[in-house]
Amino acid sequence: MTPVGIILLLLAAALGGAAFWFRGRLAAANARHAAELATLERQHATRLAAEIDRTWALLDRMVEGVIVVDPDSRIQFANQAAGALFGFTPPAKGRTVLEATRHHELAALLARLPRESEVLNHEVRLERLPAPRYLQVNALTLRNRGAIDGAILVFHDLTRLRELEAVRQEFVANVSHELRTPLSLIKSAAETLLDGGMKDPAVTTRFLEIIDKHANRLTLLIDDLLLLSRLDSGRADLHLQPVPLRAAVQEVFDDAALIARSRGVTLQNHLPPDVCARADPERLRQVLANLIDNAIKYGRIDGQVDVGGRTIERGWVELTVRDDGPGIPPEAKARVFERFYRVDKARSREQGGTGLGLAIVKNVVQAHGGDIRVESSPGSGAQFHIRLPAGSADAPAVRT
Ligand code: ADP
Repeated sequence: MTPVGIILLLLAAALGGAAFWFRGRLAAANARHAAELATLERQHATRLAAEIDRTWALLDRMVEGVIVVDPDSRIQFANQAAGALFGFTPPAKGRTVLEATRHHELAALLARLPRESEVLNHEVRLERLPAPRYLQVNALTLRNRGAIDGAILVFHDLTRLRELEAVRQEFVANVSHELRTPLSLIKSAAETLLDGGMKDPAVTTRFLEIIDKHANRLTLLIDDLLLLSRLDSGRADLHLQPVPLRAAVQEVFDDAALIARSRGVTLQNHLPPDVCARADPERLRQVLANLIDNAIKYGRIDGQVDVGGRTIERGWVELTVRDDGPGIPPEAKARVFERFYRVDKARSREQGGTGLGLAIVKNVVQAHGGDIRVESSPGSGAQFHIRLPAGSADAPAVRT
């Protein structure tokens, strides 16, 4: 063999060896990569599963109800809130929405959904006892690469909102009515005077008295409404300080002496001198005045109004205003604290009541952190009990 041949042979052998070594390395690298890829895939799958579990767990604990359905409207997932709203046990997997919720409107909404590209908003009413519930439903078709992959329904409970709206509407209607009554009386009295009534001094006096009476009534009503609005929005600042209750009650008794005498009512202050509340003196005066005025107004002619009180459990005092009148019927007891609620409308108006007194009392007592309750059985008078934080006479005054 020529030297060139030998060199070529050696070269070929070297190249062959290198190729074999290289293939070996390549195979090892491939195997390593495949193992790494498999590990990555496993990690990814575990992370994805954990992520999905977390999402379901989050959906499950949402305040809003959530139902996810497959393309056949069978439930894939329903959370606790949805179960509570419709009365089924989640996750209810595999049941149709109609079976689980028994609500035909929802089934109809789902049937309509594939034709919609946007989120559908719909309000449904659930007939429940003691009162219906109102839900807003947001429904969306789920799509995967263009194909329908089911739908998601989210339910927001609007019941509280609807109830507040009804209370607001009723309140506005009541206020308008309460304002209109004295206003129309003032207007017709003024018209009578202008139509010639002024020529007769006796008629003039009578109609001016009507105007004065109803203008006062309007002022009372507007003062009460403004106070309630301040209490509602937390703008009624309380200047808390120790208030000796015996003296506070006595002041209100002095102011009410005339009206009590006109009805022959005896006022009795049984409070021991050491019982002290931590309260805003002016607001507490309003509370006492309302309760004592009511006891005189709605109590028995020639009857008796007793106010007592004591220090009860740690840090609290209780004050009781008691009359011996006809009392409050059982069905009205819970309602007397509502705005404009009166057991006897005509009687309250005749006595100059605004129908807001006890609502103000309740709000003021609650603003102090206390509470109020009424006890009454027909024929045996009414007793209003209020509980307030105790204050010692030597405690410093604090503004809140
Ligand atoms: P009003 O301005 O009508 O007195 P309140 O809010 O003070 O309004 O009271 C609401 C209703 O509760 C009154 O109209 C009355 O029917 C009833 N009421 C309040 N206090 C008494 C009481 N001591 N005895 C009987 N009924 C009462």
